[in-house]
Amino acid sequence: MAKLIDGKKISQEIKDELKEKVASLKAEGKTGTLAVIQVGEDPASSVYVRNKKNACAYIGIESLAYELPENTTEEELLKLIDELNEKDEVKGILVQLPLPAHICEDKVIQAISPKKDVDGFHPQSVGAMTIGEKGFLSCTPAGIIQLLKRSNVDIEGKHCVVIGRSNIVGKPMALLMLRENATVTIAHSRTKNLPELCKQADILIVAIGKPRFIGAEYVKEGAVVIDVGIHRDENNKLCGDVKFEEVEPIASAITPVPGGVGPMTIAMLMSNCVQSIEED
Ligand code: NAP
Repeated sequence: MAKLIDGKKISQEIKDELKEKVASLKAEGKTGTLAVIQVGEDPASSVYVRNKKNACAYIGIESLAYELPENTTEEELLKLIDELNEKDEVKGILVQLPLPAHICEDKVIQAISPKKDVDGFHPQSVGAMTIGEKGFLSCTPAGIIQLLKRSNVDIEGKHCVVIGRSNIVGKPMALLMLRENATVTIAHSRTKNLPELCKQADILIVAIGKPRFIGAEYVKEGAVVIDVGIHRDENNKLCGDVKFEEVEPIASAITPVPGGVGPMTIAMLMSNCVQSIEED
C-alpha cells in the first residue's frame, strides 16, 4: 500500500509557518497587500479567488479584491495593473486565469511588474527560475517540490518523468526537478510509447489534463506518483489524471485528489507574497 502524500496537512504546516513569519515581519514594520483581480464571473474562478482571500486573512496579510465585469476591456485591465504596479503597499498582483477571450493573457501577465509577480508567470520570473536566479516560482510546481521534500522523498539522482509541457505546470515542474538534481524526461501528446517511458520513472508527475488517464500500466513498482490533474467526473466527484485505485497498490507514495497537489498551490502563492513583503 502506498504512503498517502497529504497535501492538506503539508499546506497547513506551510501556512502556519508563514503566519508566524508575517507576525515577525509586522513587528519590523513590514506589511503588504495582495491585489487579486477577477474578470467575469466564472464560478470556478470565484471559488479560487475566495480561497486566496481566505488564505491571506489566515496568514495575516491584507488582500484587495477587484471584481471586474466580463466586458472589461484589455486596456482597462492593463491600466488597473499599471496603477497597482505603482502602489507601494501592494506587494503582489494576481490576475485570475482564464481571462475572457477578448483579453490577451500574455499581454496581461507581462504587464505585471516582475517584483509583484507572485504567480511566477512573467517571462522574467520564468527566466530567473531557468537559470537558477532568485525570483518568484510558479506556485503549483513549487508546491510539488515541497510535497516531495516534506514527505522525505529523495529527488537527487532519481529519474523523474513529467507528463505535460504547459507553461504553468509541465515546463516549470521539469525545471524545478532538474534544479533538485533529478534526471528529467518531459512527455507530451507526441511522445511515443508513453506507458513504457513512464514505467522507467522513479517519480512520475502527471499533468496531462485528462481525467483518470494514467493506469497501472504506466507505473513502476515502488514509484512515487504525483497527480496534478483536477476534474469533476460524471457523478460530479473530484478526480485526478491518475486512476487512483489502480495505481495506489503499485506506488510507494501517491497524492490523492482532492487533498494532494491542489491545496499546495495556494500555500505557495502565500509563500511568494511573504517573500515579496520580506524582500521589499
Ligand atoms: P494543459 O495546458 O492542457 O497541458 C496538458 C499537457 O498534457 C500538454 O502538454 C499536452 O501535450 C499533454 N498531453 C495531453 N494529452 C496527452 C497524451 N495523450 N499523452 C501525453 N501527453 C498529453 O494542462 P495544464 O494547465 O498543464 O494542467 C494539467 C492538469 O493539472 C489539469 O487537469 C489542470 O486542471 C490541473 N491543474 C491543477 C492545478 C492545481 O493546483 N492542482 C494547477 C494547475 C493545473 P501537448 O503540449 O503536446 O499538447
